[in-house]
Amino acid sequence: MLPSLYAGWTDQLLRGPIPKETKATCDNCAMLPQSEAPAKGVFFHPVTRCCTYQPPLANYRAGLILSDDEPDLAAGRRTVEERLSARIAVTPLGMDPSTRFLLLYKNALGSFGRAPELGCPHQIEGQCGIWRHRPATCTTWFCKHVRGATGFEFWNDLGELLRFVDGQLGLWCALEMGVEAKLLARLLEPKRLEATDLGAAIEEDVYRSLWGRWTGKEADFYRACAEQVRPLAWDDVAQICGPHLTLLSRLVRERYVKLISEQTPESLRIGLIQIEGIVAGKYNTVTYSSYDPVRMSPHLVGLLPHFDGRPTGDVLEEIRLQRGVRVDPALVRRMADFRVLVEEGSPA
Ligand code: SF4
Ligand code: SF4
Repeated sequence: MLPSLYAGWTDQLLRGPIPKETKATCDNCAMLPQSEAPAKGVFFHPVTRCCTYQPPLANYRAGLILSDDEPDLAAGRRTVEERLSARIAVTPLGMDPSTRFLLLYKNALGSFGRAPELGCPHQIEGQCGIWRHRPATCTTWFCKHVRGATGFEFWNDLGELLRFVDGQLGLWCALEMGVEAKLLARLLEPKRLEATDLGAAIEEDVYRSLWGRWTGKEADFYRACAEQVRPLAWDDVAQICGPHLTLLSRLVRERYVKLISEQTPESLRIGLIQIEGIVAGKYNTVTYSSYDPVRMSPHLVGLLPHFDGRPTGDVLEEIRLQRGVRVDPALVRRMADFRVLVEEGSPA
């Protein structure tokens, strides 16, 4: 389920349902070691799982959470209120991760999914407290994809689009609310690590210069932003966000067409495959993502050299004649989805 507002907008953008990512079994996290799992592999921390992340909340999205009075969101709403009262990276554009967090997030190698110190402030007892209104990256990230790289590329581009939308709508709301252009321009500049990121007290006058008459009423400001965005249809969003969004929308639609297509690519060759080991007599291979390895029998791996860029139909016929095996085109499409095979002309 996509969160509030995103669901309606993507319906209008794609004019069709998005297939579910059933391999990302969050209630029984697919990135925790399973009993039959190989001794080696990439596993996540049992509590944080993939939520080693501090999501940015655009002003309107923070407002959606703060104005949601449903009891099931009470605890999650409190986590947003706590972030608000900490006043770190809290501005009329929204709530950003602290610069300290970003520094660690970008530089601590291998920390994603594994370092509890980077755990999300909105995670409560292993669950997302703001699920109904979660932001773009949380909406579009999955550890595994039913259609492998084809799914990953769709969600990746949709994530880029929704992040862009959040940024632009956040700016639009702030302008509509009368925030000074000079202040907004300053907020859009790259941020530096500051003493307040490391525990120093927030300087009251600096904070007041950000918020002006809204100081102390930041939650009201965010709620007012939510009310501005709530009635917008996708066409309104597209008009506010301009040609860059038109470009991103076209890319996402192209990815969507591929995601729902059942066609087998016309010509294929072997992709970049990293064999990590042998599990239960099958090769454990990494192709498009180390989080989503592919298991292949030695017999199937032995057929791969036939795929050398010639038309797929010719290759399947050759395999039938030389090896006496009929390869199901659905299996070929699956190998193409997971980049075991790649379309001729695409980068390796
Ligand atoms: S998306 Fe995250 S929580 Fe869900 S199964 Fe994957 S790692 Fe686990
Ligand atoms: S907002 Fe929710 S989904 Fe996103 S990182 Fe936090 S707990 Fe995870």
